[in-house]
Order: sequence, then structure tokens, then C-alpha cells
Amino acid sequence: MKSSRALLLAICLLVCASAWVSTVSATLPLRHWLRSRHNAPRQLHAEKQDHAPLRDSPTPPLDTSQFQSKTVAFVSAHPDDIEASAGGLIYRLTQQGTNVHYIIFTNGDKGCVNAVCANMTNEQLAVTRMKEQADAGAVLGVPRENIHLLDFEDSMLTSYPEVQLRMRLVAVLRQVKPFAVFSWEPSPTFRELQPQQGFLDLGFHPDHMRSGVIALDAHLNSGLDRLWPELGPAWTVTQYYMFDWIHADVYVDITDVIETKAKAFNAHVSQVPLPSLVLPTLQHINAAVANRSGVAQEATYAEGFVEYF
Ligand SMILES: [Zn+2]
Repeated sequence: MKSSRALLLAICLLVCASAWVSTVSATLPLRHWLRSRHNAPRQLHAEKQDHAPLRDSPTPPLDTSQFQSKTVAFVSAHPDDIEASAGGLIYRLTQQGTNVHYIIFTNGDKGCVNAVCANMTNEQLAVTRMKEQADAGAVLGVPRENIHLLDFEDSMLTSYPEVQLRMRLVAVLRQVKPFAVFSWEPSPTFRELQPQQGFLDLGFHPDHMRSGVIALDAHLNSGLDRLWPELGPAWTVTQYYMFDWIHADVYVDITDVIETKAKAFNAHVSQVPLPSLVLPTLQHINAAVANRSGVAQEATYAEGFVEYF
């Protein structure tokens, strides 16, 4: 019972990141919230049934060799989103010579679930989270200069003018010139991302959905040479993918790199109350993705993505 609650907490921290938990726990005792919302004892039992394959045929693998010697950009809402969603893929990409960039909308200045940041100001927390992001990127082979922090306020992304967000992202895309972009889904499948399935609010954080919408629009805007020429020469993104744990179009086998993914996530110290639970939690989530995708025979642990084009 106790470990089930701890596992739920760790899952939440991995997938909703940043301020979501701290916002909720500020108004409700976290333990009560987890128990009342998620019925922890049932949750682990239910997963085995709920993660059955959804397709008639197995999900195909993502051909990562197509990204060799190219630039790929990952766009997210918070520091730690990218490691949780695609850390295994990123390590595979950097190992084969892909130039990986992170573009992160908010500075994460509201998310803290570890004693190390309990007494920090929001400004100090933002600085800490950038350092943690740099440390996590280094584990996966992403250099500090490839991490672009747009520095919007955590949990407030929906409050900024939409065009302001698009322009900031277009400016970085035209600078980085990515062959492919990965980001959140704008509208995850609500009924199928239920807490009792072990996914909690994976993607339903308002910052996640907002960043998904902006990324989807901005990567197209980037290619329009008459739009915002002051932001740099137009750049056309060739491929676009979204993080997905349920209806993945393609999967990536991360079985032999999941420990590196966990090490990268653990670099987000302020987001991890129990470091020892990060690896088993990722194993739990990424095994569920493999099962859902019908590829568990080929890959014990998988990451999934929607292939937009
Ligand atoms: Zn997040």
C-alpha cells in the first residue's frame, strides 16, 4: 500500500512534471489526493488489463537512422518533460551523431518536490531547474548550448498571447534549423489516459497542451518566408512527431538505454523526492507503452510517438 502510493507519486512526477503536483498538493494533502483520486491498490492490478495491445498488428519501429547527422528539436513545456517523454530516443540519437536541441517554454519556477528547493525563491528555483536541465542533457549527450530556455512563467503558458509564443518558437526553429521536431500532443485522448491506468495526467497539464498547440502551428509558420522575416530566413521542418503512450504510430526500443534515461531524469533533483523509484517507474511506464503497442516481444521497454508527417 505504502509503496503503491509512492509509485503513483513517482509516476506523477515523471509525467506531469513541474508545478502540477505542487499546485494540487498546496490545496490538498497529497496523500489524501492520491488515495481519493486514484484508488492506489486497484491501480496496479488494473494496469495489466488496461495495457493490452490496441492494434491488430504491432506498431512499427521508428527508423532512427534517418536522423543520422541531422538536427532534431524537442519542444516541451517544462524542464524534465523531454527526459520523461523521449529520453531513451534522445540518447540513441546522440549516440549515432544526431544534433539534438531542446526548446523549453517555461522556466519551471513553480515546481519543487524536494527539500533541496523548499526554501528557494521562484527566481532561484528557475536557475536551479536550468542547471538541472543542463545536467540531464549532458547525461543524454545534449550540450548546454543546444538547450534553449524561453523563460516563460511555469503553469502560466495559457496566459501569454498566442502569437508571442509562436514568434518565440519560430525564432529558435529558424536558428536551429531542425530536420524533425518532436513535442506534446495538443489534445491527448482524455478517456484513455486515466490515472488508474498508471498514466495519471500525462500530457493534460495545461502547459503541455499549450506547448503542443504552439509547436504544431509554429513549425509550419517557420517555413513561411513572408511571415516575420525579422526572425530569420524561413526554415521548413521536414518531419513532425508527438509524444504518445497510448496510440503510438511508431515506437523506439529503449530496453538497453533505460538506465541512462533514468539517470538523466534523476538529474532533475528538485523534481524527484525518491531517486530510487525513478528507474522502476520508468520501467513500469515504458513497459506499458511496449504492451500497448503490441511490441513487448521485441522490446521490453519502449517509447511511443505519433507521426504527424
Ligand atoms: Zn511538464
